[in-house]
Amino acid sequence: MDDCIFCKIVKNEIPNYTVYEDDVVKAFLDISQTTPGHTLVVPKKHVKDIYEYDTEMAEQVFARIPKIARAIKNSAPDIKGINIINNNGKVASQSVFHSHFHLIPRYSNDDGFSLNFSDNSNRYNEDTLTRIQNNISKHLEG
Ligand code: AMP
Ligand code: ZN
Repeated sequence: MDDCIFCKIVKNEIPNYTVYEDDVVKAFLDISQTTPGHTLVVPKKHVKDIYEYDTEMAEQVFARIPKIARAIKNSAPDIKGINIINNNGKVASQSVFHSHFHLIPRYSNDDGFSLNFSDNSNRYNEDTLTRIQNNISKHLEG
């Protein structure tokens, strides 16, 4: 992936602020620093998005996230929480198409990051929820 910015970071071809790396992942500061300590965890192998992970790669990458999250949490006493975000697809705000996980330390409710989960529960009933449930279940791989 010659033109992939995160592949270039994996190979240290462009400057980066790496906090952790091993044979599977690299974790480095997100240049935007949405909040102080905002870190990206990327698999060293180029995969575009979550759909391209096989089970073994998912196990290896996901297994590394808690220890990186703990290091961030322990890096400053005023970190009260961490949001872990993985965007897939333009509509979901993915802008770099080398899969990555945002670890965003949270300091307060107005620290520069926000998430909005609308509550639309009043638009659904047992039938509509069951239909959605079955539609997703039947698409699961064996
Ligand atoms: P996303 O919108 O989920 O695809 O996130 C991509 C993230 O990559 C953004 O938060 C950018 O700030 C970050 N980013 C882009 N280029 C670099 C870079 N050279 N070094 C560190 N972070 C970067
Ligand atoms: Zn890449």
